[in-house]
Amino acid sequence: MARMIAATLAKTYHTSIACDGQEGLAQALALRPDLLLCDVSMPRMIGGQLVQTLRTYADFDDMPIMVLAGRDDEQLRVELLHAGAQDYLLKPFNREELRVRVANLLSIRQARRDIELKIAAENQLATIMESTIDAIVGKTLAGVITSWNSGATALYGYSSDEVIGKSIALIFPPGRQSELPDILAVINTGGIVQRFETVRVRKDGTYLDVSVAVSPIRDAHGRITGASTIAHDITEQKKTARELLHTQSQLRAIIDASQEAMLFLNPAGWPVRVNTRFADFFGLDDTTVLSLSPWQLIAHLKERFEATASLARSLAWSISDEEHIFQEYLLQVTPTRREIDLSSLPVKDVHQSYIGRLYVWRDVTHEREVERMKSEFVSMVSHELRTPLTSIKGYIDLILTDEAVGDLTELQREFLQISLSNARRLESLVNDLLDISRLESGKIELHSEPLDLNLLISELLPSFQPGWDAKQQTFILRLPDEAPVVFGDTGRVTQILTNLLSNARKYTPAGGRIMLTVETDGAVARVAVSDSGIGLSAEEQSHLFTRFYRAQNAVTETTGGTGLGLSITRSLVELQGGQMQVESEPGRGSTFRFTLPLAQS
Ligand code: ADP
Repeated sequence: MARMIAATLAKTYHTSIACDGQEGLAQALALRPDLLLCDVSMPRMIGGQLVQTLRTYADFDDMPIMVLAGRDDEQLRVELLHAGAQDYLLKPFNREELRVRVANLLSIRQARRDIELKIAAENQLATIMESTIDAIVGKTLAGVITSWNSGATALYGYSSDEVIGKSIALIFPPGRQSELPDILAVINTGGIVQRFETVRVRKDGTYLDVSVAVSPIRDAHGRITGASTIAHDITEQKKTARELLHTQSQLRAIIDASQEAMLFLNPAGWPVRVNTRFADFFGLDDTTVLSLSPWQLIAHLKERFEATASLARSLAWSISDEEHIFQEYLLQVTPTRREIDLSSLPVKDVHQSYIGRLYVWRDVTHEREVERMKSEFVSMVSHELRTPLTSIKGYIDLILTDEAVGDLTELQREFLQISLSNARRLESLVNDLLDISRLESGKIELHSEPLDLNLLISELLPSFQPGWDAKQQTFILRLPDEAPVVFGDTGRVTQILTNLLSNARKYTPAGGRIMLTVETDGAVARVAVSDSGIGLSAEEQSHLFTRFYRAQNAVTETTGGTGLGLSITRSLVELQGGQMQVESEPGRGSTFRFTLPLAQS
């Protein structure tokens, strides 16, 4: 019988035969067949027992089992069905009947499995839909809501019960109702509405910005039955973007409101930003500037300036220098003649990474003009004052020294001495003012020549001796054996030394020590004037070379001075190719050092 059955089914299925119930169980567990056929009565294990045992194994709960019986016993049939058999076939049976019954059992099991898979997939989808924070809404092609996940409830404020069966138009604000037919029209033709930004309205009437994508829903036959919308809230994102835009336009407006022209170059030297003043200054609109390469930009700007080599160098700083602030003076010649102060500073982001260089072009034409006028005025006044002053000084001198004038009383002599000393102070002030105005306007004339520094000093010192004697100050002179020959203007070098030596005398108390040292060092002569005087704090030292600066102390209060001397002195040193520095400590004294280039031998 078993062989006959196997032969009947072998054309369509793989078959395996067991000779008794026990073996049948063992084979079933090992081979996991799609279907099991067994007899009611078998050696070692009867059919009912085999069915019952197999059903206790988890994986065998839906395996189709058909039992063959020799007689139609209703009670046995019921028992077998209870034990888990699905079909009952009476012997003898027709072969075709066997084939049909087997095929039916198998297709029933397949259908059940398919349904289970579908349910599992739907459950999975429902879980995903519920766990996403996006709003997922299903609707018919007429716009009637068919599904509404928890994301949609959170986003729009309606529960699914409130909206299912209603029109989706519910969440479209009045001004956007026309979007709905447009979307449905696209879906109807099988299209997808790509993500777009729009506005929807919540249950409480408030509006929210959303990003939405819509795709068609199809049935098992591929027919479009509705649309599925995925939306998420972008209100915050939009707000941030709006704020950013606002800040950007505010910054832009501030930069444009500046009186200075600004240009920002990236680390590769390319123009990245300019303000409107830049366009005004140079007659180049910002779109043009931003389309220029670094070399084109330099070429454009070069046409507008005099001494263009320095301009090309300055613009290259954006590539070569990430640290320093530079400042320089430039003369613009076209489209308008302007004197310009160009400053350039590195720009770093919040992480201190270099992001480029800002160039600020300030029109200083008027400022410079005023300065020039001021200088000319000071120079003119000083000149005018000098002549009557010389005359006053000369006549007082004459009264004091010329016997022909006649005898003077002690009081008259004393008063005239006071007048003479004040006339001298006035003269020195006028001379200082004149020097300052000449230095500012660049009109100072230097008659530089090789000069013997030792000789110059030895000729100068006698005029200081009475002053040192009067204050019982000790003067020490250290000159090199071989006299340094510097290249400078005799009058101006004398002026430098005079200023430093007279300051040392003025700001050193009686009994103090003053020292003048000269030495040669490579291509320069180094001169130092040091004293054991009142000294200067670090703060005072930082202002020392500023015009009219005088430190506030008892000595400056009682000693005459203009605060111009050191400023002039340093300018004179620098004009002659030297440098000047100061070292000082309050209460311990000061040392002023300067260098002058040695004359080429
Ligand atoms: P003036 O001596 O006419 O005031 P200067 O320009 O020569 O002007 O000097 C500026 C200021 O520097 C002085 O007022 C003084 O306060 C300070 N100063 C200059 N030299 C010395 C010095 N050797 N020791 C202490 N202070 C000094």
